[in-house]
Amino acid sequence: MSAFDYDLFVIGAGSGGVRAARFAAGQGAKVAVAEERHLGGTCVNIGCVPKKLMVYASHYASDFKDSAGFGWRVGQRDFDWKTLIDNKTAEIERLNGIYGDLLDGSGVTLFEARAKITGPHSLSVAGQEITARYILVAVGNRPIRGSEPGQELGIVSDDVFYLDKQPERLIVVGGGYIAVEFAGIFNGLGSQTIQLYRGDLFLRGFDHDLRGFLAEEMVKKGVDLRFKTLVKKIEKSAGGLAATLSDGTVEEVDQVLYAIGRTPNTDGLGLETAGVETNGLGAIKVDDYYCTSAPSIYALGDVTDRMQLTPVALAEAMAVVKTLFGGTPSKLDYDNIPTAVFSQPPLATVGLSEEEARKRHGQVDVYRAHFRPMKHTLSGSDEKMMMKLIVDRASQKVLGAHMGGDDAGEIIQGVAIAIKAGATKADFDATLGIHPTAAEEFVTMRAPLADPKEQVAAD
Ligand code: FAD
Repeated sequence: MSAFDYDLFVIGAGSGGVRAARFAAGQGAKVAVAEERHLGGTCVNIGCVPKKLMVYASHYASDFKDSAGFGWRVGQRDFDWKTLIDNKTAEIERLNGIYGDLLDGSGVTLFEARAKITGPHSLSVAGQEITARYILVAVGNRPIRGSEPGQELGIVSDDVFYLDKQPERLIVVGGGYIAVEFAGIFNGLGSQTIQLYRGDLFLRGFDHDLRGFLAEEMVKKGVDLRFKTLVKKIEKSAGGLAATLSDGTVEEVDQVLYAIGRTPNTDGLGLETAGVETNGLGAIKVDDYYCTSAPSIYALGDVTDRMQLTPVALAEAMAVVKTLFGGTPSKLDYDNIPTAVFSQPPLATVGLSEEEARKRHGQVDVYRAHFRPMKHTLSGSDEKMMMKLIVDRASQKVLGAHMGGDDAGEIIQGVAIAIKAGATKADFDATLGIHPTAAEEFVTMRAPLADPKEQVAAD
């Protein structure tokens, strides 16, 4: 008989926690998981899933508009926020049920309560003291707010999914992917949307052409983008909220949405009782195999502050289970992880940005296409599409692929397989396009852009 109540106790039934619990149980381990809020975690309840449903909802506005050039006459259009939120919530509840069934079906014991670590092998959960051979911390993170006066009058992304009323006028504060996604959603749904970002251009870390492309397209769609601008103060006003901005202007709005970053859920978790170290920002430090500074405690997903994406948390969970119960120490390869921004239009990317590729590889060839997609020859929309390939000049290996335009995420997923497999530009060139598609552009870009350094030298 084991000296512990469980072989594995998982804290947090989000993307990573549920996957680890189920697969560890599948390996014959005795597993329990504690969840204090909602099964499925951030992604299912207040992240990827409800966000994508809202992106779909907001797209109809431009779809209705675009259809006119194809002969459609769409009558009176009304959008009902409550229907969207109610239908979204019903779908999320269905998914919560599926997650519960999956855990149950795998033989995992679920504690619907907050768990706190009390030692290297012990936790307190719902008034019980429980022991486990291994503890896996998969508690995720949560949104932060600004620190200016009146910040408590603003909302964060968690709140958006349960707002009673659609804000007619909204300020989104932030320049990360969540901020641009919400700006696009509300703008599409008809809210007057201002997006503020403290820097020169949003989406730091993405390829510069992609960032510039999105800024241009968002402005065309009506988002009031203001870079190098912050909120200084929020006050209640007769018509809603009065937000004073760093340039001195005062904007009257119904909501101010902070999407300025996230902080790990490690407060009060008892990490210190087991000697688990965190970095200065509260994220748990782990080695390549997700082991913390306490050998019996592992951590993964957003609480470790690596790449904050659901597929990453899932893959890390599989690696931890293989390491602990499969007899094979396993880790994730973080290179070439594809990702999308569900902005309007969407962006997707895999591999290195041009800037990063130049830094790491020196000489690179850059191929870029910026064009009007076929759909918009009749729709009348002036929305453009952009595709870009970054190629290592010496080896001709494709180092990065970037796209802005409809279906970017769907298209880059396939391109990511080629890049992960080490495809060269010649492999892309030897692949025939599917015609007529936008995606064929990725295999028909023939001439690289002039090298900026060589251009300067020639001038
Ligand atoms: P989570 O899924 O956050 O799960 C952690 C769980 O732990 C939570 O359910 C929490 O309640 C629970 N918990 C915390 N503390 C305790 C405790 N002490 N005891 C018991 N339970 C506890 N990723 C993508 O890949 N694509 C997207 O399009 C995307 N969109 C997003 C949009 C938004 C608005 C947000 C906020 C995130 C989005 N993400 C997206 C990121 C994605 O949701 C996360 O990367 C993913 O959920 C991380 O999984 P996790 O297991 O680390 O944590």
